[in-house]
Amino acid sequence: MFKRLAVCAAAAMMLCSCGSSEKHQGSVFAMDTYMSLTAYGSSAEEGIKKASEKLNELDKLWSATESGSEIFAVNSSEGKPVSVSDETASLISFAKEMSSQTGGAFDITVYPIVEAWGFTTGEHSVPSEERLNELLEVVGSDKITVSGSEITLPTGSKLDLGAVAKGRAGDICADLMKECGVTSAVLDLGGNIRTLGTKPDGSKWKIGLRDPFSEGIYATLDVGETNIVTSGAYERFFEQDGKTYHHIIDPNTGRPAESGIASATVIGSDGRLCDALSTSLFVLGAKGAEQLYRSRHDFDYILVTDSGEVIMSEGVSGLITFEPGFGEKVSVVK
Ligand code: ADP
Ligand code: MG
Repeated sequence: MFKRLAVCAAAAMMLCSCGSSEKHQGSVFAMDTYMSLTAYGSSAEEGIKKASEKLNELDKLWSATESGSEIFAVNSSEGKPVSVSDETASLISFAKEMSSQTGGAFDITVYPIVEAWGFTTGEHSVPSEERLNELLEVVGSDKITVSGSEITLPTGSKLDLGAVAKGRAGDICADLMKECGVTSAVLDLGGNIRTLGTKPDGSKWKIGLRDPFSEGIYATLDVGETNIVTSGAYERFFEQDGKTYHHIIDPNTGRPAESGIASATVIGSDGRLCDALSTSLFVLGAKGAEQLYRSRHDFDYILVTDSGEVIMSEGVSGLITFEPGFGEKVSVVK
């Protein structure tokens, strides 16, 4: 065993001593998903190590299910104020703000409903209408009070940062890697992509967009430093009596969103905004997404509808290359 470790260490050192654009990879299981970190150059190994540690740390801080986390403390506070870290308080404030900016399509208080459908344990079942109506009473971002770094939440209400945590984590890790001297990296945080710099040769990254109807990709995006975040019905779902139920909940109904969208991708410089919006656009559907985009224009987006049509904002046109057989029905929103 020790011998094997020694051989691995030697191999790793040999990798490091090669050219300045040497590729390094690391993987982490955090936030309920496999994450893969790729970085280039002499600082890559240290950058990946720091980022991996940070991802585990943030997972412990934000997990809704782990008893030591700040979110768990808020969720079991029985209405009493809970003091959390500035990072957590600021993410909760942001999420609350996103709820009002999306007319409630985005709502981190939807957690009791996510639990009722069994998405937290894997013991899936369709809750009764009465149960959902009962739970909808404790849902609503107006229930969250943020005062400095103190969070107050009434008994029964619960928070879940699952739709925004990976987006924020991507930006935090990219900044950490930059501090280590990394200038070229791709962080794949389970559907959330955060790029840092460009490829070592200065060219753009080519990021694949997952086909929501099969295992492959339907297009690639050529990008510099950015976030590309996708929410899809195919990520987590179960079937009961021939019907499929996925994990993105419409907070208005308490049921999996049925807006005609199979996947929603958001591209932009702020990871938490992209993450929150990918979930929001999925809930809002094509019309709602278009309205939100026209009201702010600070992000780009791509929707694949249930019938396979692609709807994308103007800024995507210059970045996207469709795979053969895809991209026949495309509309562009300006
Ligand atoms: P993923 O985390 O699977 O990449 P999302 O970013 O879209 O996908 O987040 C979905 C997760 O967020 C769900 O698993 C659930 O925990 C939570 N969630 C579900 N619906 C909503 C919603 N409308 N607003 C905020 N969070 C949600
Ligand atoms: Mg999201």
